[in-house]
Amino acid sequence: MFDEVKGFAVTIKRLFKPAVTIEYPEEKRNMHPRFRGLPSLRADPETGEALCVACGLCARICPTSCLEMHVLPSEEGDRELGEFILRAGRCMFCGLCAQVCPVDAITMSREYELSVTDRDGLIYTKTELAAIGGQLPNWWETGIGDNAGIPDAWTRDENAAALAGRGAPSGSLAPR
Ligand code: SF4
Ligand code: SF4
Repeated sequence: MFDEVKGFAVTIKRLFKPAVTIEYPEEKRNMHPRFRGLPSLRADPETGEALCVACGLCARICPTSCLEMHVLPSEEGDRELGEFILRAGRCMFCGLCAQVCPVDAITMSREYELSVTDRDGLIYTKTELAAIGGQLPNWWETGIGDNAGIPDAWTRDENAAALAGRGAPSGSLAPR
């Protein structure tokens, strides 16, 4: 009997505290600046050309072998990237591919809503990856230096305070 009363006391105590939950997917919390989402390909902001030089290091270091690239001979007699495939169903979002890239051509995006009804939907091509990551900064530089304008994610308590209408701490963004 005493245990039931204790249980109800906890419930009643919580009733008067602000909710810490949000209505996902309508409401979303801020991410941490260096959140690691789907790997994606970056491009030169001026020319729009993919930065990848087809060296193959990312595919070599990938612990799950989920990267595949088709390399073609270039007109200059060098090599260029033909196709770049990411099998996202095998990716564990470790970020090693982005860290090893000598020209920062691959970065971790903030894409995380990746569920599909068909396995083929988890296979991303060069064009799709470039559409996601074309103008993204290096993921590990996000939140520092020139990219310091991106605030950190709210803590659980900050989120609860905002939901209760008490405003956000300075430097924070509203949940997206
Ligand atoms: S994030 Fe890790 S697992 Fe995913 S493609 Fe890059 S190296 Fe491979
Ligand atoms: S993304 Fe980077 S590491 Fe991977 S093949 Fe291209 S240049 Fe090399």
